[in-house]
Amino acid sequence: MKTLIKNCRLVSPGVDMPEAAILIQDETIIQIAPGDLRAPAGARVIDAEGLTAVPGFIDVHCHGRNSFDFCDGSEAGTAEIVKNKLAEGVTTLLPTTLTLSEAELTAALRAVAACDPGQGCRIPGVHLEGPYINLKCAGAQNPEYVRVPDAAEVDRLNAVCPVKKITFAIEAEGGVEFVGAMLNRGIVPSCTHSAAKYPTFKAAYETGLRNLSHFCNQMTPLHHRDIGLVGAGLLHRDVFAELICDKLHISPEMIRLVFQVKGADHVVLITDAMRAAAMPDGEYSLGGLPVMVSGGAARLKEGGALAGSTLQLATAFRNVCEVTGLPMCEAVRATSASAARSLGLNDRGYLLPGYLADIALLDADFTVCKTLVGGEVRFSR
Ligand code: FE
Repeated sequence: MKTLIKNCRLVSPGVDMPEAAILIQDETIIQIAPGDLRAPAGARVIDAEGLTAVPGFIDVHCHGRNSFDFCDGSEAGTAEIVKNKLAEGVTTLLPTTLTLSEAELTAALRAVAACDPGQGCRIPGVHLEGPYINLKCAGAQNPEYVRVPDAAEVDRLNAVCPVKKITFAIEAEGGVEFVGAMLNRGIVPSCTHSAAKYPTFKAAYETGLRNLSHFCNQMTPLHHRDIGLVGAGLLHRDVFAELICDKLHISPEMIRLVFQVKGADHVVLITDAMRAAAMPDGEYSLGGLPVMVSGGAARLKEGGALAGSTLQLATAFRNVCEVTGLPMCEAVRATSASAARSLGLNDRGYLLPGYLADIALLDADFTVCKTLVGGEVRFSR
């Protein structure tokens, strides 16, 4: 089956064609061309009517949406999140868990494993955020369930549903060795909710750590005698930094600084969205803790710590373009390609021949009008 997308602006890392056509064979892009392409006989034609085609977004850190949280462990709720993420242009998703009991994590992973791969986003695996974090940097994670790194527990969870990424505190007992243990299993280790000092980071880096989760949030700040995890992420340009660009979790100036120092190639835009994403303000919960959402900002009722976001990835992309002034074909690296590379998924993140035809079509306001997964239109506004 061939599909032709005509009459689009094509934006992919390093490429911006004001008028372009994309030819797809089955799940894969086989040709891109400026101007027009003649539709092969029998091809399905999608007239993009001047919309901008970008690589489908990859959200490696998302807890929920539309009132549902992956940690509810509900198959119906999980399926709703996975389907509704398409509306923000996401085509690959890592459902992300919280610091909870093994029984609750198992239930959440069971619900993800039960997802129909023919619906919604692609799910290469889950992202375990916690439970092996630093109690002092728990933020909105439930301190009751914090424990020390336990590879055997990860193995049990991985047998329920593949674990793709794990976020933990490298200074925890056995934390540096845990980096290597995860890499040996093909799981991407990442650090935050951490008070690690730079020498601990350096040891973890030498063991293979190349990811920092929600960079700047719940990690050691930059200090001139110990640059901490924030300094480490800025200094080591090959470290991928997840960034919540809702202009609340980090200021516009910090967004600019991170992009200036690291370049978009190693910034991974995430939503860190909780269940209130795409929902009105009001009372919600996160990991069993009550949360109040006001003006789109989600905060724990007790203590007021930010409790995830209500951000959607297309909005994060717009914010980055506005705040950094980067051209779209540069900023777009951070929405998909860097996430794909950070996970070792070499088949997506670019609108180039040979890559998966995972595509979002945006209007001039970055509103997602259509989302294609493997050449199939799965969302249409
Ligand atoms: Fe977190």
